[in-house]
Amino acid sequence: MSHEAVQPDLANLERPALEQALAERGHERFRARQIFRWIYRHGITDFSAMTDLGRDLRAALAEAFTLLTPQLVERERSVDGTEKFLLRLGDGRRIESVFIPDTPAMTFCISTQVGCAMACAFCLTGKMGLLRNLTAGEIVGQVRVLAGALAMRDRRFNIVLMGMGEPLHNYDETMKALRILADEHGLAVSPRRVTLSTVGLLPALDRLAQEPLMPNLAISLHAPTDQQRGELVPINRKYGVGEVIAACRRFPLKRRSRITFEYVLLSGVNDSPEDARRLAKLLSGVKSKVNLIPLNAAPGIPFERPSEDAIDRFAQILADNHLTVSVRKSRGRDIRAACGQLIVEGQRQSPAQQLATLAFGD
Ligand code: SAH
Repeated sequence: MSHEAVQPDLANLERPALEQALAERGHERFRARQIFRWIYRHGITDFSAMTDLGRDLRAALAEAFTLLTPQLVERERSVDGTEKFLLRLGDGRRIESVFIPDTPAMTFCISTQVGCAMACAFCLTGKMGLLRNLTAGEIVGQVRVLAGALAMRDRRFNIVLMGMGEPLHNYDETMKALRILADEHGLAVSPRRVTLSTVGLLPALDRLAQEPLMPNLAISLHAPTDQQRGELVPINRKYGVGEVIAACRRFPLKRRSRITFEYVLLSGVNDSPEDARRLAKLLSGVKSKVNLIPLNAAPGIPFERPSEDAIDRFAQILADNHLTVSVRKSRGRDIRAACGQLIVEGQRQSPAQQLATLAFGD
């Protein structure tokens, strides 16, 4: 039927918008709270099963809205307990989300785009190019699906926007997703438990600084100079290291909170003692913690992971210069769920990417 095509997706509505939509149709606004509880707390997406709503309202909802939920296609479990979820969206596009247990918290690693436009030199997702943005409903939908599949609807978990995509390149939908996630009648995930990881798109970073709901911030830095970073993170040619760090310095941080700087260590590229000293100098006076990520190597990625010695030496220099530093343990490498390894077969675009498919052998 023709009107079905324009039925709004209820998964995309913040509660105030749902209240408004209900009121416009002559229903009571407070029903939105009940509907949110069904969807987000109980995982019920079939309006007819929302038993504390009257029969008429249930029918009216089914008539007026759709409620899209990503479909779980495949689930893989690593020896370390990390689980990777392949999800299919309404239009058939596929994305991946990852569950990382005991870090010490339970963490959901969520995607914000299908593919990514940033094309970082060491990242497989970047090789897909950007296929499309996710809607807020699809971003939150990953959390709904994982929480259900893992029987974690009643448990606390953290969320990191470190899956596929650049969250600040899909700003409005990402922020809307954070508001839906935070709703007290829904999943009630406080923004303090959410970390947004970005290459540092400057205008969006400054916009983020004004947000009432503020997630934790992680910056994918990866190199201390423009020359090096420009090679690794192409957007650096537009927004350079100095500008990104300046934006971090003026970013309004809550007491005791700090900005995480992610730094993928690439053997012979950005892992020298001199690089470590430059990084320490760059970050001096910034409320920071540095998260070193030894490269997760993959076919098609033209870099190598440094030796354990090189990693330790790099970390030690940062520590000697009074920076807080941690080395990220790779989780889920055996199922290709680790950082930068998320890619969905058959959705790549360029010949280089097809090469990577062959190399993967699946
Ligand atoms: N686009 C965002 C979030 C997604 S990536 C961002 O760039 O921050 C999450 C982190 O994984 C980023 O720091 C990214 O640089 C890192 N990463 C990408 N590819 C990687 C790889 N092959 N090995 C290790 N870390 C990688």
